[in-house]
Amino acid sequence: MTSYFINIWMAMAFIIAVQPLAGQGSSAQKKVLLLMGSRFEITAVAEDDTIAWEAINAGIAEIQRIEKIISSWDPQSQTSEINRQAGLMPVAVDRELYDLIFRAKKISQLTDGAFDISFASMDRVWRFDGSMTQLPTQEEVAAAKEKINWQDIILDTDQHTVFLKEKGMKIGFGAIGKGYAANRAKFVMEKIGGINGGVVNASGDLITWGKSNRPEGWTVKIADPKEKDKLLGWLPVKDNAIVTSGDYERYIEFDGKRYAHIIDPRTGYPTTGIKSVTIVCPDAELADALATSVFVLGKEKGLKLINQLNGIECLFVTDDDDIITSENLKLNYK
Ligand code: ADP
Ligand code: MG
Repeated sequence: MTSYFINIWMAMAFIIAVQPLAGQGSSAQKKVLLLMGSRFEITAVAEDDTIAWEAINAGIAEIQRIEKIISSWDPQSQTSEINRQAGLMPVAVDRELYDLIFRAKKISQLTDGAFDISFASMDRVWRFDGSMTQLPTQEEVAAAKEKINWQDIILDTDQHTVFLKEKGMKIGFGAIGKGYAANRAKFVMEKIGGINGGVVNASGDLITWGKSNRPEGWTVKIADPKEKDKLLGWLPVKDNAIVTSGDYERYIEFDGKRYAHIIDPRTGYPTTGIKSVTIVCPDAELADALATSVFVLGKEKGLKLINQLNGIECLFVTDDDDIITSENLKLNYK
């Protein structure tokens, strides 16, 4: 096992397997597939299997639709056009993308800039795909960092345009896109009548709703960071999202030091100190963004922020394998 916490590939194993309960007539159907470059697992519980599949397919179509808008890799996406026009001119975009950027800016405000979709200018110096052979110089980091500033993402409400004020600025939705897609997939699936419940799990960023076909409901097990094969406890996740940041498969290592793929916008360097952050709240998009934010804010400030927010809880693991939870998180031990 490469990871010991609920997160990407492992997350699947942590959800109690969905099985039909004898005699209840309600069964769960599940599809696993690659979407947005991540492994998605989509589950629908319904009396009628045909309806469950209709919902699953609607969820998939919705995620694919969103990917076309927010992908920074697809040159055809509106997001790529915004990036190409950085420092040149405002780009008129769909209401949906406009609203997503608006919400992202709100989270930047809430987190004092720890969360910032304009972190993406750093992809010139930090690459977490194995292609880096040496650390960037301080000058290179400083030059790329200059381009990070959420307040330079200019939104025009009347025209629905987005303008990146400086040349070389770039936005990316790596820390919020999966959560948004999970919310939306849930929304379209619920709209299909006859669905009793479901889970949309985007590589460990997941949202559940309604009935599970297990008496204990939807639960997520959490492994003990100190003893990877041992169970630390579990959380009920009924009608909640549970999102983990801390992608153990994506990091780089130089001279024995580990660099996470989350960038601190204040320094331009990857964050250190925290191994993983899990956020529990009803909204997957917010949970996704806050998980990344707490990473950047660090132990004290991150915990303080979450404790101030109503209905939002967190659990995080430090580099020393200590587990820290917010005031009202109820981890079940038995
Ligand atoms: P995971 O991929 O482990 O679920 P996150 O949800 O935290 O983790 O997303 C990490 C991604 O967010 C990075 O790969 C990058 O695309 C983007 N990102 C990195 N730093 C920031 C930041 N400070 N603010 C917003 N997005 C960020
Ligand atoms: Mg995130």
